[in-house]
Order: sequence, then C-alpha cells, then structure tokens
Amino acid sequence: MNRAVGLAAVLSLAAIGLMKAEPAKAGVEKLYILNCGEGTAGDISRWSPGVNEGKSMDFVDNCYLIKHSQGWFLWDTGIPDAVADMANGLAPADPRSVTWHRPKKLAAQLEQLGVKPSDVKAMAVSHTHPDHIGNVEMFPNAMLYVQKAEYEWPGANGAPRFKAEHPVTRLEGDHDVFGDGSIVVLSTPGHTPGHQSLLVKLPKTGEVILSGDAVHFKANWDNRGVPANNVSKEQTLASMQKIADRLSKDHAQLWINHDKAQRDSLKMSPEFYD
Ligand SMILES: [Zn+2]
Repeated sequence: MNRAVGLAAVLSLAAIGLMKAEPAKAGVEKLYILNCGEGTAGDISRWSPGVNEGKSMDFVDNCYLIKHSQGWFLWDTGIPDAVADMANGLAPADPRSVTWHRPKKLAAQLEQLGVKPSDVKAMAVSHTHPDHIGNVEMFPNAMLYVQKAEYEWPGANGAPRFKAEHPVTRLEGDHDVFGDGSIVVLSTPGHTPGHQSLLVKLPKTGEVILSGDAVHFKANWDNRGVPANNVSKEQTLASMQKIADRLSKDHAQLWINHDKAQRDSLKMSPEFYD
C-alpha cells in the first residue's frame, strides 16, 4: 500500500468513525401524509350553516405518520380499511354528509414505507368520529393519547369509544408527547367534547399544526364557520382562536385535514416532509 492510499484509508476510516459517533438527531425526523379516505359531501352547508346550501363538495381524509427519534407516531387512522373493498363506498345516514371511499388502504401505505403496525409505538386521534378512528385496532399495542373528555364521552347506547384493553393515556389539556416539544397534542374542544389537534416541529419545514376537525376547510377557517353538528360553538371558536394564536406566535402552518384543495398542494406519501 503506498503512503497516499494508506493515508486516505486511515482518513476515510476516521470519517466513518465520526459518522458513527454522531448521535441520532433527537426529535421529529420526518412526516408522511397518508391517504385515509376521499369522499363527497352531499351539502356543505352542514358544515357552514346558511352558506353554500345544497352544494356538494369533495372531502379528503388524511392520516399522518411521524418518525420521531423515539419511534413511529401516528396521528388519526381515517376511514376503516374495509371500505376500500366496498364498490360503492360508505354512504352516510344523512345524505348531506360525506360518502366515503378508500382509494388506498392504510395497511398498504405503511407496507410501502416498510413500517409494520407493531412499529407504531404511539398514536393519537383528533376525535372519535368514524372517519378518524377507523383503524385504531390495527395498532392494539400502541399507546393512545386521547382527551379524558373524549374517552369518557358515551357513544351510541352508552357504548365505550375505545376497547378497554387498548393502552391509553387520558389527557386533560395540552400534552408534549416525547417531552422535547416536537409533538404536542393541543386540546381544541368544540367539534366534540375532547377534540384535539397536533403541533409537529419538523427540522426543515418548521412547525405545522394538524387541524383534526377543529376546522374542516379553509373557507370555514377564514370566516370562522362552525358546523351545526358541533357540540359547542363557543368552544369551537375558542379553539380556532387558540390555533390562530399559536400559528402567529410560532410562525406555524395550518394543515386542514379535510380540505382537498390544500391536500392537493401537499406532498403525499411516499414523499415526506422533514
Ligand atoms: Zn372528520
């Protein structure tokens, strides 16, 4: 081995050593937006009383898979995967509401990323409407972060909202999931008693707030429109203000879960945000 080659070898070994010594970056590494449903609302005035009566509108439904240095975290689980096998989709009881389809299964999108359901260590859902909790039990061992007010909200005929055996952390307000400020559950009640949103701090993209259904589409955000079916108009407006304050304080972006126009402008999995 001549001296120059020998030196280069030593230097490259040293470089590898340095790379190995560098600790994995703490916090959130990346975020994938997954397609968790697409549908058509029969009458969007259901979400904006008095506005656009009788007009239909396309809705989307996202799940968000986040890679944190301590493990995978899933925000919302969307329409049940079984709907992907229904030729006509899932029709609502109220024709003004949304007929949902599932162009892609959640399981297939995880598989495409090489993520097994058992790799998801923690999860949270914005609230317990069926378009958000459809696949919670695909992750029976993942710690579920949910507001106590939502967890204890009786379902139809007093049924529980979640399986009793699912590991759960019942929250009463905001919660910093990994203690480093990178994934923070924000209590935003109003749509349901224990509705919550999620603040995510990405290394390059910056801060993003995932709305859940604190607001359904941009026009409602701009006009502070409150759906007639929300459990509390006052709480909904206060929650929107809380999000608005956080957006301006932290220069964060708001990603509105059901807003198709916005989603169409965002990168979908397997592309990601870092
Ligand atoms: Zn929803």
